[in-house]
Amino acid sequence: MSAHMPGHDANCIFCKIIAKQIPSKAVYEDEQVYAFHDINPWAPVHFLLIPKAHIPSMAHIGPEHAGLMGHMMALVPKLALEQGCNPYPDGGYRLVTNTGAEGGQEVHHLHFHVMGGARPWLRG
Ligand code: 5GP
Ligand code: ZN
Repeated sequence: MSAHMPGHDANCIFCKIIAKQIPSKAVYEDEQVYAFHDINPWAPVHFLLIPKAHIPSMAHIGPEHAGLMGHMMALVPKLALEQGCNPYPDGGYRLVTNTGAEGGQEVHHLHFHVMGGARPWLRG
């Protein structure tokens, strides 16, 4: 993937991960999305699900993204179980999207945290 690719931000750490310029531990990949293990996990299961297009945050999402958002949300239950989250209702997981400074967002490429597994967790 080159810096000229539409939807790619050459200065974005998650765009570099998508482009395999920075290594990551893959969970899932298709044409639209990539999922990989968080480098600093809060919970026994902690992965990030991101669109391949550089969308900075949830604040940038509009009706034109409904298909992509539906695709991502529909993947979460399947990937969570595959990665070792225990079944609902005794198990489950947290799905978190930090948005903007007051939302605690550090990486400005939209990402959904999926966190689960037996408690206690390191955080959350
Ligand atoms: P935020 O605070 O923006 O919601 O979360 C960013 C997340 O990205 C953090 O949980 C952090 O551990 C993770 N992260 C930051 N840099 C990297 C990286 O280079 N590789 C991986 N796998 N995760 C990262
Ligand atoms: Zn990006």
